[in-house]
Amino acid sequence: MKRTICVCILLLMSVVFASGQNAASPQRPDAEVEKMIKEVSAESVEAYIRKLVSFGTRNTLSTQNDPKRGIGAARDWIFDEFSRISKDCGDCLTVEKQSFTQPANPPPRGRIPEPTVLTNVVATLKGTTDPDRIYVVSGHYDSMCTSPTNAECDAPGANDDASGTAAVIELARVMSKRRYDATIVFMAVPGEEQGLLGATYFAEQAKEKGWNIEGMITNDILGGVTTQKDSPHRNRVRVFSEGVPSDETEREAATRRSVGGENDSPSRQLARYIKEQSDRYLKDFKVWMIYRRDRYGRGGDHIPFLERGFAAVRFSEPDEDFTHQHQNVRTEDGKFYGDTPEYVDFGYVANGTRVNLIALASMANAPGKPKNVVIVTGRLTNDTELRWDANSDKDIAGYEIAYRDTSHPEWTHFIPAGNVTTFTVKNISKDNYFFGVRAVDKDGNRSPVVYPRPGR
Ligand SMILES: [Zn+2]
Repeated sequence: MKRTICVCILLLMSVVFASGQNAASPQRPDAEVEKMIKEVSAESVEAYIRKLVSFGTRNTLSTQNDPKRGIGAARDWIFDEFSRISKDCGDCLTVEKQSFTQPANPPPRGRIPEPTVLTNVVATLKGTTDPDRIYVVSGHYDSMCTSPTNAECDAPGANDDASGTAAVIELARVMSKRRYDATIVFMAVPGEEQGLLGATYFAEQAKEKGWNIEGMITNDILGGVTTQKDSPHRNRVRVFSEGVPSDETEREAATRRSVGGENDSPSRQLARYIKEQSDRYLKDFKVWMIYRRDRYGRGGDHIPFLERGFAAVRFSEPDEDFTHQHQNVRTEDGKFYGDTPEYVDFGYVANGTRVNLIALASMANAPGKPKNVVIVTGRLTNDTELRWDANSDKDIAGYEIAYRDTSHPEWTHFIPAGNVTTFTVKNISKDNYFFGVRAVDKDGNRSPVVYPRPGR
C-alpha cells in the first residue's frame, strides 16, 4: 500500500514537471553573477570613499564652484567617475546631472536657509528586453558635521554616506560590464541630511512620469564601523522594510484589519527576495531583515519612494557608533569624534555591495512582478484560487504560487503553476495561510512575490 502511494506521488510529480515545454528550470546560481561578486573590490571601494572624504565637506549648503572643496566638487567627481565607467563599457550608461532649486525652508523648521540648487547624479544602464522596468540603487553624497546647516566645518562623512555612494559607483563599475533585461539606475543624491531632498525630487519625477520602478535600494551607513568589529552581527547587513505600506489607502487598511497583510507590503516582499537571492550566493555574509521602515527617530532616502507607492528598502551596517556620525571632527577628553575613513571597514562595504549586486542582477534578469494579483473570495471554499495578468516578458516560463503559515516570517512553499493566469490550490485554505504569486523565466530566474488583494 505504502509503495503504491509513493509511485503515485512520483508519477504525479513527473507529470507536473513535464507538463508544457515552457517549464522553468530550477534556479541554479548564475555564473555571471558569481563572477561579478568576485569583481567587487574592497580596494576600489576604499579609493572612492577616500576621494569623497578629500572634498573636506559635502554639506548640501557648502560651496558649489570650488574645484577642490565642497559639494560641487564631489558632484563633479561622481559625474566624471560615472562617465569614465561608461566609456569603459562603450557608452553603455546615460550619465546625467539632475539639478533643481530647493525652495528655502529655514531653521528651526527646515534645514535650507535660502533657495539652493541640488543635483542628483544619475547613471542609467538601459535594459535590453524590458527597458521600462526600472530598479534604482542609491547612496547620498552629502554629509554633515554636528550642525546640519554648518557649510564650513569639516564633514568627512566617510561612513555616512561615502560608504553608500562608493557602493553605488562600484556597482556601476562592475555591473556595466554586462547587460540585463530591465533598466538599472545608479544614483548619488544630495540633501539627505537636509530632509531627503534629492531622493524626494527623483521619486516625485518618477511618479509624475509614471515610471515602473519595481524596486529601490538606498545604501546609507554601510561602512561597518571598525569599533564594532567584535559584534556578533558582524557578518550581516540590515535590510529595513516597512510592514504597512506608506501609501496605503483607507480601503486597503480596512482589508488589512479584516484579514491581515500587515507583514506583506511590496517593500517586505523585496526584503525577502533580497535575502533569498543573497543566500544562494553568499555563505559567510547574510541579510538581516529588520521588519520596520527605519530606525527610531531616523529616516532615509527609501521613504520618499515608499510614500509614492514604490517598493523600497534601506541597507545599513548592523551596529552604529554615534561618535563617528554627524560629529565635528575633534578630540574631547582623550576621545576621538568624527566620521573619518579610519573607522570604515572597506571589506564590510564590499560585502554589502555584493548583496546589492546579487539583488539587482537577479531582479533585472528575472521577469517583472505579476500584475493585478487577486485572491478570489467570491464563494466559501477550502480551495484557494488566484488569478493575475499575463506577464509580457518574452522568456516567461510560468508562475509559482507561494504560501506560508500566517505566523511565518518568510515564504516557505512554492507550487509550480505553469504558464497560466489562474490557479487553484486544492484543499489548502486561504483562511489558514498567506498566499502570493511570482513569475519565472525559462532560465529559472524568479521575480519577487506579489501579495494578492481580495477580489471576486
Ligand atoms: Zn546618511
